[in-house]
Amino acid sequence: MDGTVQSCAECLAPVSAAVSTQNGASLCQECAEQFYCTCAGCGGLIPQDEAGLRHGALCCVQCLGQPGPDDAAEALSEAELSALVAEFSRLHAEAKQLNDRSRQQPASGGT
Ligand SMILES: [Zn+2]
Ligand SMILES: [Zn+2]
Repeated sequence: MDGTVQSCAECLAPVSAAVSTQNGASLCQECAEQFYCTCAGCGGLIPQDEAGLRHGALCCVQCLGQPGPDDAAEALSEAELSALVAEFSRLHAEAKQLNDRSRQQPASGGT
């Protein structure tokens, strides 16, 4: 009996050198490579279908939720953001005015 042998959480094969995922599951190397990927943020092994893409790198949900150092530089400041929103609503109002005006023009009745 070898108590150190664990079974892979994916293929259920006994593995002597199990790879631990971020949530503590044990995997064989093959399954780890096939179904899991390494989070670019915390380095944990995460299921590929649960990983999210951030700046072209796969990250776990936790890391996606927290802004990394890159995000701080790329994120719009609140001032920039509100300026954009103001610009957008101004354009929107203008478009609406134009729309109303063109609708108010009397339909040319045939003479
Ligand atoms: Zn496996
Ligand atoms: Zn992570």
